[in-house]
Amino acid sequence: MAFSSYYPQLVSQRRELHQWPEPGWTEFTTTYYLAKKLKEWGYDVLLGTKVVNPDAVLGRSEKDVEAGLQAARDHHVPEEFLKATEGYTGAVGIFDSGRPGPTLAMRFDIDCIPVQETTDAAHIPTKEGFRSKHDGYMHACGHDCHMSIGLTVAKFIVDHKDELCGRIKIVFQPAEEGVRGANAVAESGVLDDVDYFVGSHIGMVAKYGEVVIDPWGFLCTTKFDVTYTGKPAHAGIEPNAGRNALAAACSATLQLLGIPRHGSGMTRVNVGMLNAGKGRNVIPPNATMVMEVRGETAEINDYMAEQAMAIIKGNAVSYGVDYDVRKMGAACDMKNDPDMIDALREVAKGIPEIKTITEKANFGGSEDASLLARRVKDHGGKVAFFVNGADREAGHHQFNFDVNEEALDTGFKMFAGMVKKICGRK
Ligand SMILES: [Zn+2]
Repeated sequence: MAFSSYYPQLVSQRRELHQWPEPGWTEFTTTYYLAKKLKEWGYDVLLGTKVVNPDAVLGRSEKDVEAGLQAARDHHVPEEFLKATEGYTGAVGIFDSGRPGPTLAMRFDIDCIPVQETTDAAHIPTKEGFRSKHDGYMHACGHDCHMSIGLTVAKFIVDHKDELCGRIKIVFQPAEEGVRGANAVAESGVLDDVDYFVGSHIGMVAKYGEVVIDPWGFLCTTKFDVTYTGKPAHAGIEPNAGRNALAAACSATLQLLGIPRHGSGMTRVNVGMLNAGKGRNVIPPNATMVMEVRGETAEINDYMAEQAMAIIKGNAVSYGVDYDVRKMGAACDMKNDPDMIDALREVAKGIPEIKTITEKANFGGSEDASLLARRVKDHGGKVAFFVNGADREAGHHQFNFDVNEEALDTGFKMFAGMVKKICGRK
């Protein structure tokens, strides 16, 4: 096995990051770790509202942000740095070769999910002593690997700066889970001058030694939190004086699950949580629904969202309750540009550890890199997203998720290869 000379860095960073996973919009300790290294290596580092447009932020809770800031202080993250974030996580490192050439952006997501990591001794992070130290949270989607690959590519770039032209942006995006973060990063405009955009996910549909260079089936999605507000009343004495928010939410849920499917492509709808009511003998004055719709294309997803809104409003009217809808996340479909697929194929062919180059495979989920890709395309740039195969102990988001760390090296080599291909001096 011919690992790159960067392999020890890839593994050690991944293991450090794995120990302090932070959920979306609270990744202050993580952002500090990333920004500090980028600065040390000579990158111009953008933070706060330079990389996140506050007006376009989705699914961010002030309470969680406060907890993240407190955790960062407990980890001795300097106050000056926290001030520079303006309360928004994520960072973009900019490398300028000083020579004319294209602008390349590479995106790496940085958040974790709320899963308690297993204490099973057979689980490598437990066995090797780098299990999550953040109770209830875990890098169970491999974003620790993504970050380590991103940082290592950043180091590779400065080590090879004399061989490069143009500019390179290393984008560390917050809050991918629930597809919340990319919208605000896209709307910040930080990618508007980008000619080429590359993103990736580890694991998913591919095994170690395989890359998928043209994944399809990225579903468009919109996430909503719906709140119904009625009026409490005594359920025995005067039920007629109440306005039943629970009944509105239940009725809406059944109707949502019955939205007619679209003739032109795949659709999904889910009400994943429903909380309502105050007590046995009280007409329930409150209900909250956490829900999502998906569609194969933006048009089909919009159809699902419109149908859902009509049902939510209709049930508010029938039960005489008020309603409020908050958009919590969004992603769209994604299509790689043909030249970028060719570039990925050529790079993959030059990596001996990659034995299988799969052209097409169903990604089968949503990924908000799609919003960044769409922004780049809207400004005339070209985009690619690939899947970096890894053997997994268990599926993504499970408490015993893990990847074989050899896949860090193939991921790194793919990105480094794209850097040379796009920004290499001719
Ligand atoms: Zn993920």
